[in-house]
Amino acid sequence: MTIVTDERCLEYGQTGHLERAGRVARSLALLREQTELPLAWASPLEVPDRVLLRAHSAAHLERVQSLVGNFDSDTPAYPQIEQHARRSVGGALRALELCRQGEPAFSLLRPPGHHALRENAMGFCYYNSIAVAALEALRQGYSRVAVFDFDVHHGNGTEDILLEHAGVQFHSVHQFPGYPDTGSANVGSNCFNHPLPVGTPREAYLKVLQRTLETLLGWHPEVIAISAGFDAFQHDPIGRQSLMAQDFHWLGQALRASNLPVFSILEGGYSRHLPDLILGYLRGLAGLAALAEPTR
Ligand SMILES: [Zn+2]
Repeated sequence: MTIVTDERCLEYGQTGHLERAGRVARSLALLREQTELPLAWASPLEVPDRVLLRAHSAAHLERVQSLVGNFDSDTPAYPQIEQHARRSVGGALRALELCRQGEPAFSLLRPPGHHALRENAMGFCYYNSIAVAALEALRQGYSRVAVFDFDVHHGNGTEDILLEHAGVQFHSVHQFPGYPDTGSANVGSNCFNHPLPVGTPREAYLKVLQRTLETLLGWHPEVIAISAGFDAFQHDPIGRQSLMAQDFHWLGQALRASNLPVFSILEGGYSRHLPDLILGYLRGLAGLAALAEPTR
């Protein structure tokens, strides 16, 4: 298992903002101090404009670079956010490269990406890392690329960018109604949405995750790109769902059992237990047992 990261992603933030550097800093610390899961480390790839432009318009790239103003109150014009967002995309591309080489990889960077639309930034997201990586996977010769988004929020940006792209399927399990208030039904021929109400019982949530994975695997993808968000966790301050830490381990295990190349990138997840949730997921992917449930 390889972790793709770059500590420069810890260098920006805003007091009181939930998407803060500590999410990644504490996760890196836990991954480095644990010894049971052997880890290798890698850096993000450089991302040329032409690769970003498969997913975003030139006008959007210019706006992210220009820092003329906040995109919305969630998505500030941080100094150098363009470089940070580009490195997040580079992390996804490195994770794809590793996965092609037979090495499962997790990109542990910020900002997240799955709300970033072709033409706009929103919801803490500026460039859509998973969509760029899915399109790059197609360019590299894969003909069936599945994107699975288990963040508690709908991956509206990923849907916007991948809609009706031949060779890609997008599957999202998320809370609805809830931010960004999209994803109530399937869209087009390749975007499959699985909306779940606030406070869905854990067993029901897990059943939908399992069925979604079965449907996705039934399409016989050659590679699975994961938008790994950990905000459906029961103690998450934003999500209002009831998944336990062991459920993210189960997700990792289920993906491992597919025997397909898998790469994952961090999207959301805001509880203080995020590091445990990530480690549990990675242990599942690597075939190790679950850890004890963290206490509140
Ligand atoms: Zn989220």
